Formats: sequence, C-alpha cells, structure tokens
Amino acid sequence: MHLLSRPVAPGVFDQPPAIIPTDPAELGRLIDNTPAADLGALYAHLVQQLGCHVQAERLWTEAGPFMLECRNDRPTSLTDKQIADLRERTRRETTSFADPKIVHKPGPTFHSREWAEAIIGGQLTAMTWPVMYLLHIAMEAEPEPPITRRQAAEIAERERQAAASQETRDRRGDQVAQRRASEANAYAAALRTCLVKVAVRENPHGRIRSGVRESVRHAVPDMDAVSGRNRQHRADRALCEDIGRTKPLNLNDEATDEPVTCVRCLMHVATLRPVGTTPLAPAKTGPKRPTRAQRDLMDHIGDGRAVRDRYYMTERLEALSVKGWAVKVDGNRWELTDCGRAALEA
Ligand SMILES: [Zn+2]
Repeated sequence: MHLLSRPVAPGVFDQPPAIIPTDPAELGRLIDNTPAADLGALYAHLVQQLGCHVQAERLWTEAGPFMLECRNDRPTSLTDKQIADLRERTRRETTSFADPKIVHKPGPTFHSREWAEAIIGGQLTAMTWPVMYLLHIAMEAEPEPPITRRQAAEIAERERQAAASQETRDRRGDQVAQRRASEANAYAAALRTCLVKVAVRENPHGRIRSGVRESVRHAVPDMDAVSGRNRQHRADRALCEDIGRTKPLNLNDEATDEPVTCVRCLMHVATLRPVGTTPLAPAKTGPKRPTRAQRDLMDHIGDGRAVRDRYYMTERLEALSVKGWAVKVDGNRWELTDCGRAALEA
C-alpha cells in the first residue's frame, strides 16, 4: 500500500521537528530515522507546513522514494495487533511440555527467516518450544505471506542464474554434438581410402576435453598393414603404436561403432593398405588437387628426371607419397603413380 493512500493517524507523531527540512537529502535522513508507524503523520505535517499537497508529494518522492517503499514492504501481512495477539496466545498456551504433533509436523516450520523474525519480533536464534508454537500458529494465521521486494529480487536472481547455466549447458551440448559430427566426418573420409579392415577400440583411460571426460578411440587393423610411405603396423594393435613397441596400448576388447578420435590413427587410416601393395589413390573428395609447388615437383618426376633425395626434398616427396601421387623406386628415383598423373590432369 502506498503511504499517500494511508489514512494519517492523528496524534501518533506528537512531536514533529519545529520545521521539517525541505532539502531532499535532509528530509530523507529524517524519514530514515522516523519509525514506520509515524511516517504518515510526518507527511501530514509536511503538507501542512508547505500548504500544498503537490509540492509535499514531489519533495517526499525526491527525498526517499526507496525508503518509502521499503518501509511498507513487510514480510508479513499480519497487523501489529494480530502479531501481538499471537504472542499473547503463545504465552498462555505453551506449557512446559512440547506437543509432538507440532514438533514433528511435516513441512517447513516457517515461511522465510524474515517472516519468522517479524513474527517473533527479534532474531531467530534457537527453535525453543514457545518459538516453535508461535511460528506454528502464525503459519496457520497466514498460510501465504506477501513476497517482499528483497525476496522477489532473490527469486529473479535465482531464475536468471538458472537460465544462464541452462544456456551454458545447451551451448556445451551443441559444441559436443558439433565435435562428434566433425569426428564422424573425418573418420568416414579417412575410411574411403583405407584398404584394410579396421576396428575401432577404445582406450578406457579417459582424457578431459572441453570439460568432459571422454576416452580416445583408436583404429586397429585386422592384419599386418602399411600406411603412408612405408610405415608398418601390426595386426590387432592400434595404428598409432610404433612397430617396436613392446607393451601394447590398453584397449577395450570389444570394438565400438563410434568414429576414431586418435588423430594419429586417423592419419594412418587414410593410407592404410595390406603389406606389399603400392600407395592407394587419394579420395575423390576434398582438396585433392596438388598445390603449385607440388605440381612443379610432380612435373619433374613425370619427365623421368631423377630427383635427388636430399633432406629438404624428402619431406616434399613424402607428402606426395602420402597422397598416393608418387612412389619411390630404386634408390633416389621417384615415379608418378596413375593416381598422381590423374591428379596432375585434374
Ligand atoms: Zn591411436
């Protein structure tokens, strides 16, 4: 209820200051120090002093609009008289024995701490039997208390936080879904050029990625195989394992349908082939056209000119070999594959 619509009780505010200050800051301080019950009378005196309702109202609003609302913002709608009656009833009705029906009553004992303290008229420190009884009868008298501005602000804040964390969860879910999709695409693309049957097996020891624990999945060929230029892989061992490794990676026995997530395995899958076969044609999709530098190099090879196997060349030639465009023959000589010739013409 707005203070201005409240009837002014005459005689409550017996001794107003001789002159009520008309400076908003000073008036605000006076309002602060005036008991809530006397604010109506103070306002009436102000109107009388200024001789004008409009001016008084404007000044009052300027002086302490927030204080004005806060003072009317009680956690309970019970009047002071009703609360006094409840306290009196408690004094009368609480004997030395506590009523187990009330003590063990299911549900909350009071609405909110603010509400309970307004009913008790002091701090809620201990749940003694009289306090419990008073709160019990007050709960019966006021099953639904008003929501104060502070409570409303708290509720709004909680809702805002819940919405924000839901948004974060959604975003993280989207990111995970996106990553899953790109992993599946990468694996499908690699499988297109793979000539050996591979199973996907998970390493049960997880890693943390984007705040989510997940296991790395490796590709395991069912026979001895080679990849890239001439990297060898053993059957039933992860592709990323070195051929000389004695202790195998710890992998689940069962294969999974999920895509491979180990980047090294993924790289090898793309060029995996049985032992003794030449590198395979690159996939038809993706950026499979040679770069300008690669074209030049391939032109050299295609002309039948020997390419010296220098270190700085090796890397570039190996890159061609990984693509399946060139293959090394006797010593330092390289030859274009059919696929390499096709790539040059593409
Ligand atoms: Zn791996």
